Amino acid sequence: MRLTVIGTGYLGAVHAACMADIGHDVLGVDIDTARITALSEGRPPFYEPGFDEVLTRALASGRLRFSNDLRDAARHGEVHFICVGTPQQAGSQAADLRYVNAVVDGLTPHLPASCLVVGKSTVPVGTTARLTDRIAGLAPAGVRAEVAWNPEFLREGFAVEDTLRPDRVVVGVSGREADETLRRVYAPMLKDGVPYISTDPSTAELVKAAANSFLATKISFINAMSEVCDAAGADVATLADALGHDTRIGRQFLNAGIGFGGGCLPKDIRAFAARAEELGVGPALRFLDQVDEINRRQRTRTIALARRLTGGDLAGRRVTVLGATFKPNSDDVRDSPALAVAAALHQQGADVRVHDPMGAANARRAHPELRSGSDLLTACRDAEILLHLTEWSQYREVDPVELAGVVGEPVLIDGRNALPHDAWRAAGWTVRTLGRPYSP
Ligand code: NAD
Repeated sequence: MRLTVIGTGYLGAVHAACMADIGHDVLGVDIDTARITALSEGRPPFYEPGFDEVLTRALASGRLRFSNDLRDAARHGEVHFICVGTPQQAGSQAADLRYVNAVVDGLTPHLPASCLVVGKSTVPVGTTARLTDRIAGLAPAGVRAEVAWNPEFLREGFAVEDTLRPDRVVVGVSGREADETLRRVYAPMLKDGVPYISTDPSTAELVKAAANSFLATKISFINAMSEVCDAAGADVATLADALGHDTRIGRQFLNAGIGFGGGCLPKDIRAFAARAEELGVGPALRFLDQVDEINRRQRTRTIALARRLTGGDLAGRRVTVLGATFKPNSDDVRDSPALAVAAALHQQGADVRVHDPMGAANARRAHPELRSGSDLLTACRDAEILLHLTEWSQYREVDPVELAGVVGEPVLIDGRNALPHDAWRAAGWTVRTLGRPYSP
C-alpha cells in the first residue's frame, strides 16, 4: 500500500521505516530539512536500538523515501499517518495541537483523491471528530478524506520491536471501509496473532490517555510508598517485590526511584486532566494532579538527599551525575528527571559533571551550563558524590573498586535503585537510595 508518514521524530521515523520493512511503499515527510536529509542518507537523527538496520534495509529496498513537501505526501498516499508532536501548551496543562492542525491544513487542499488520514500522535479525546470537520472544510470538491485514530504505544528504547511486534493494535474508525484499510496496513502483524481492537475514535483516543495515566499512577504509587518507607524506616524494594507477587498487581512499573519523565507521560497526564476539565468531569481525573506532584517530588527528595550527604551545602561541591536521558537505550532528554536533578544541583552551586552513554550531546544542547565527561572515569574523577539517575546497563557493570580509586569521596545515591549495592558497599562506598533504610 502507498503510505505517508508525516512527522519523522521518534515515533514517525520508526513507523515509516517499519512500514516499509513489512512491504509498504512509504513516503516520510517532515518540515525539518536536516532531518529529512539525514534520513534519506540512512543516518538516524536519534539513537534507537535497531533503527539503524531497519532504516538501511528499508532504503535499500526502494520502498522508503523522504520529502519536505506535503504536496508530495498528498500525491503519494492512500493512507496518511500523522505522527507530529503534541507538546504541552505554554502556560497551560493542555496539549498543543498546532502541529497536527498545520499538517491537516497543509495536506488537505492538495489531496487528488479520497483517502484515509490516520492520527498516531497522542491527542485529547474528540480530536478525530474535530479534524473530520476541519478536513471537510478544506478538501477539494469531490474528495473525501476520512479520519481515523490509531494510537501508538511504542516504548523508546524498544521502538522498533514494539512497532513490528506490538502488544496490540488499536484503531478508532467511523466506518467499515477505514477498518478494512487499516487491517490491510497491519495484515503482516495480524497474521502473527497481534490483537486488533477496532472501536470508535473517542474510545481509541482514550485508550492511549488511559494507558499512560495508569502507568504514571503505578510509578507514583510506589514512589509515594517510598516516602512512607523513609518516614517509617521500612524498605520500598522489598515492599515492591512482595506486592508484585500478587498477580492482580504485578511487579512491572513498581521500581521506586526518581520518577518518570520523557516526551510523553508527564505532558500526557496533564493534557488528559485538562481535557477532563473541558468535558466537565475534572474531579474524575484530579488524582492525576497528585500523580504529577508525587513524581516531581522525587526529584526534590533526591536533591535534598544529595545536600544532606554533602554536609548541607552544595556550593562548590563536585558532583557527578550518571545518566542524562529520561530512560536507558535512548538519547532523549525531554523532561528527563536525571537532567532536571543535575540542573537543580548546578543551580544550588554544585560543580556538576554529567555522563551519559548516548545522551551527552542532547544534554549539552538542553543545558549548556552543565559540564559533561567524555568517559565514565574522567567524569567521576575527584567527585565528592555520585548520583546514578538513568538505568543504563553499563553503570551496573562498573567496577566499584576501580571507581572508588578515582573519586574524591566514595558516596553514591542510587536514584534508580538498580546497582548491586552489596558490591559497592564492600568496595567502601556509602550507598543511599530513596525509600530504603540506611545500612552502612
Ligand atoms: P518528535 O518531536 O520526536 O517528532 C515530531 C516530528 O514532527 C518532528 O520531526 C517535527 O519536525 C515534525 N513536524 C512538526 N510539524 C510538522 C509539520 N507541520 N509537518 C511535518 N512534520 C512536522 O515527537 P515524537 O516523540 O515522535 O512524538 C510524536 C507524537 O507521538 C506525540 O504526540 C507523542 O505524544 C506521540 N507518541 C510518542 C511516543 C514516543 O515514544 N516518542 C510514543 C507514543 C506516542
